[in-house]
Amino acid sequence: MTSPAASPLVQTRTIGRWRVHAIQAGGQKLDGGAMFGVVPKPLWERRIPADERNRIQLGMRCLLVEHESGLVLIDTGAGNKESAKFHDIYGIENAGAAGVTQLEDGLRQLGVGPSDVGLVINTHLHFDHAGGNTRREEDGTATPSFPSARYVVQQGEFDYATHTNERTAASYFPHNFEPIMSAGLLDPVSGPREIVAGVSVIPTPGHVPFHQSIRLESDGEVALYLGDIVPTAAHLPLPWIMGYDVEPLVTLETKRQLLKRAAEEEWLLVFEHDASVSWGRAVHDGKAYTLALT
Ligand SMILES: [Zn+2]
Repeated sequence: MTSPAASPLVQTRTIGRWRVHAIQAGGQKLDGGAMFGVVPKPLWERRIPADERNRIQLGMRCLLVEHESGLVLIDTGAGNKESAKFHDIYGIENAGAAGVTQLEDGLRQLGVGPSDVGLVINTHLHFDHAGGNTRREEDGTATPSFPSARYVVQQGEFDYATHTNERTAASYFPHNFEPIMSAGLLDPVSGPREIVAGVSVIPTPGHVPFHQSIRLESDGEVALYLGDIVPTAAHLPLPWIMGYDVEPLVTLETKRQLLKRAAEEEWLLVFEHDASVSWGRAVHDGKAYTLALT
């Protein structure tokens, strides 16, 4: 099959009274087998085809919410601090026109500068979600990309990211979060929390133990930024779980709860890693959850 067209740099819609923008912060290619865990290749390659290195094309979609209290940015892509070799291994293509990344390009297209963002929420601190929290300056130092923002992540995730082991270390780079901490910009939270009116974080463990998803509710409309609990629309079926997850059976139960409610209440789901589908609603067709495009 041929890949569906990649999503544009910026896609805009409303959720209740807010304008929200999906910003494609870059492409990434990961091993298809690792992305689909125990699902056999003949099944997953019908959904997303593999390249000659068995990698599948993914995106790194961030969300900007025009909230009354200020601009809220959810996840920040891979940033500009890693080497060319690293970018080759992970197939990262996120260079921006002005030397930073596509995220900044997307923001600029919306008339938004880095200092205009008031709140950054990270689902978790893996490099492809929090890499753009900081940027490399010409002198080599890493500084906060959004110097006027508060940054929110689960306290448990911060602890997990700063106490790695052989299995978890490859995804956590201190330069993505320690400069935020030392600048005094980090606001760790524990458990579910409304961060600003209508914008809540909810624990969705499994990919990592303290992963969180972000729920947006405005004028009766609800959207859920899933993060890595359902990274692409192809991951909607309950057992389609990434091999990267540290607690796959916890992911299964998180998805079971979350998708039931999302389908019943017709939440708009936002897919962070889908290269082409920014959002949609989940329906159960009697066998599995599947995407109903809206
Ligand atoms: Zn990810």
